[in-house]
Amino acid sequence: TDAGSQKDRVVTEEEWLQKWEMGNIGFHKEQGHPLLQKYLDVLLNGRSGLRIFFPLCGKAVEMKWLADMGHSVVGVEVSEQALKEFFAEHSLPYREEPVPEISGAKKLQSTSGNISLYCCSIYDLSSSIVGKFDGVWDRGALVAVNPCDRQRYISLMITLMEKNSSYLLVTVSYDPNKHKGPPFYVPESEIKSLFG
Ligand code: SAH
Repeated sequence: TDAGSQKDRVVTEEEWLQKWEMGNIGFHKEQGHPLLQKYLDVLLNGRSGLRIFFPLCGKAVEMKWLADMGHSVVGVEVSEQALKEFFAEHSLPYREEPVPEISGAKKLQSTSGNISLYCCSIYDLSSSIVGKFDGVWDRGALVAVNPCDRQRYISLMITLMEKNSSYLLVTVSYDPNKHKGPPFYVPESEIKSLFG
């Protein structure tokens, strides 16, 4: 298969916001992702109190799972609606504050303090703003990034990782000539070259 047919496709932030407004969020898994349960030990590797990053987080329920296990969770998402739905659906009180380093960005933080969700583009973040992470759950993130932005996305993710961090990546396999995406098809060979 050849991913060439998808390489010029661009989904704008505006289009993502519209998907949330229209409720076109077929990607959201109310019960969470079985692959996180399956590979949880790989992510945690026996460690406790980790900092776990959720790029392009939507309202992923796995953020609640990991926070309940005692880890601290940081997510980033352009849709404020998604983040508000996350806190509402889990009955979690939160507060909002501006992010001084990023104009127009907001941080929504659970009152208990262990879930911090940034409402901005992931490309606005850096390790000086969010720190580095011991683990990453990348589901619906690399595969949702516009193909032209993949290198930039992965370069940023690498700067956000601690030395001994684990990165769980979920991709989808299908004929990219038959669907326009997202989720986009990211061949294994490209994953290898992106991460180096
Ligand atoms: N990871 C989530 C959501 C996947 S859908 C899950 O597993 O359910 C991809 C999400 O990325 C959408 O919610 C979209 O609004 C968000 N998004 C798209 N581009 C983004 C960007 N540049 N920065 C932050 N979030 C973005």
